[in-house]
Amino acid sequence: MPGSPKLIDKLLASLPKEQVNALSRLIELANQRGTAIYLVGGPVRDLLLDLLPGDLDVAVEGDAIDLATHLAAAADLRIVRHARFGTATVSGDGAHIDLATARSETYEAAGALPTVHPSSIDDDLHRRDFTVNAMAFALNGNAVGRLLDPAGGRANLDAGLIRVLHDASFQDDATRILRAARYEARLGFRIEEATHDLLVRDLPFLETISPARVHRELARTLLEREPERALLRLADLGALRTLHPSLHFDSELGAAFGRLREIGPRAVLTAYWPLVTWQVAQPAIERVITRLALTRRQADAARALRELRGNAPRPGASPSETASIFAAQPAAAVWALAAAASGAVREQAHAYMVTYRSVHPLLRGDDLPALGVPPGKAVGEVLARLRAAKLDGEVRTRADEERLVRGLARNDE
Ligand code: ATP
Repeated sequence: MPGSPKLIDKLLASLPKEQVNALSRLIELANQRGTAIYLVGGPVRDLLLDLLPGDLDVAVEGDAIDLATHLAAAADLRIVRHARFGTATVSGDGAHIDLATARSETYEAAGALPTVHPSSIDDDLHRRDFTVNAMAFALNGNAVGRLLDPAGGRANLDAGLIRVLHDASFQDDATRILRAARYEARLGFRIEEATHDLLVRDLPFLETISPARVHRELARTLLEREPERALLRLADLGALRTLHPSLHFDSELGAAFGRLREIGPRAVLTAYWPLVTWQVAQPAIERVITRLALTRRQADAARALRELRGNAPRPGASPSETASIFAAQPAAAVWALAAAASGAVREQAHAYMVTYRSVHPLLRGDDLPALGVPPGKAVGEVLARLRAAKLDGEVRTRADEERLVRGLARNDE
């Protein structure tokens, strides 16, 4: 097996000081206990690609929770244990390491979660989704500095290929179909030809995946820098319509994702979800919501977007009319409309989100009784009239507002 002595230097150079300290401590503890530990999966792939590694995933040939407990105590870090999975996360003060007991997995039924057994690093690599994720890097022991690459991940990295480890991979776990498109888009890779054929053959296995698991993978996709790339690919592969026949994605909708990032960068995480359902017609919306296990807020936004597409403000509607329609809807739905609608509706939704919704009169409720408005319900009504007048440019200054309020109060007498 080829040694990669430089990988450890690359790793240490790429990590912030706090991570280096935590990792050094971990290696020290593992050495004392004679436990072999490996950097595994995503961070190894990213290091080999000269990308900054994300989470530090460490596989432990032994009890990961026990080792993590000692690390947390020695380095004064927090620990979250997942006994069922034999994993633990140690974090705090800029350090974050995920530890997992190396394990083998057997799939008793397609789509079901596998049965896991503590095992060797080799078995742990063989259970993984793609060859480029099936590499480990020994952090201690005799093999320290060595790259373990039993599935040819390095060659696939060099060739830019996403390849499964065996022919039944997508049948065992069809979420890998969604994952393949995600890695392909993220890394600018290509799904290797035989893997592509297996993926297409096994699309029906997506039906074995629970809505919660589909949701989790889609949520990860939506966290990518340009999720539309993976979604377009999933549409081309036929995976979206297999999830639900009315789920579609095309380059126009992809462009709307890009627009959303430009106009509402802080809204993307909520507004991507209704956008995913943009092309779903009314009769199917509830079934899509169920299939994707949308949360209540995501589902409300998807429904609201449907509703708004049929009942958007009329062309030429005044700002106050526009605001009264959009104010009643979840912001995520209006952002989605601002990104994906065309013509006047897109402009109205955009104007509402960036301007109208933050327009407020200078006068406050407390100011109104002195201007002749009796305390109580009338105050709210007058404030709403005032806001509408301000939105429509009928009042600008405080004096304008006072004049309007006095007039309204007189008329109501
Ligand atoms: P990265 O691969 O960069 O860590 P991520 O954080 O989005 O991306 P996760 O979904 O957390 O990836 O997966 C982490 C690792 O766990 C992957 O690199 C892969 O080796 C393995 N893995 C995750 N899900 C599966 C799966 N369904 N089947 C097999 N292996 C998986």
